[in-house]
Amino acid sequence: MIPPFRIGNGYDIHRLVPDRPLILGGVQIPHSLGLLGHSDADVLTHAIMDALLGALSLGDIGHYFPPGDPQWAGADSLRLLQQVRAWVAERGWQVANVDSVVIAERPKLKPYIPQMRQRLAAALAVTADQVGVKATTNERLGPVGQEEGIAAYAVALLMPRTVDDSGKV
Ligand code: MG
Repeated sequence: MIPPFRIGNGYDIHRLVPDRPLILGGVQIPHSLGLLGHSDADVLTHAIMDALLGALSLGDIGHYFPPGDPQWAGADSLRLLQQVRAWVAERGWQVANVDSVVIAERPKLKPYIPQMRQRLAAALAVTADQVGVKATTNERLGPVGQEEGIAAYAVALLMPRTVDDSGKV
């Protein structure tokens, strides 16, 4: 018997550099450094995308949004997340919940977490209470602790998609 749930995990890391915006969970955060990447380098959203793809054993985001592809240059990662959610829905699944953690030495992310949860939830077509976002430092240890980059981990639980207006499955 195939259980009526699927779970996936995702991880991403991007390098911190000058003269780039810092975008996490679709929210631009004031900081002296930003994340380097082909898209907007939203490391949190990328980890969540990989968790969703992983839950259906669909591979990783590099396969669907190759870093060298000019189509994705400067891409808004929330749009890419919406695309992944649409693929999940096409296959008959929907998000039960997502949990995530961003590891950044600076800046303090706590004030931005409610907005990140709202934006991620909107892209995933769920409510903010289905999207957990946590933030921690790396206690100054290693590359993340030395502010060379920001990393994120996410898990996603999927359940069979329901038709929300009639209750029919
Ligand atoms: Mg990435």
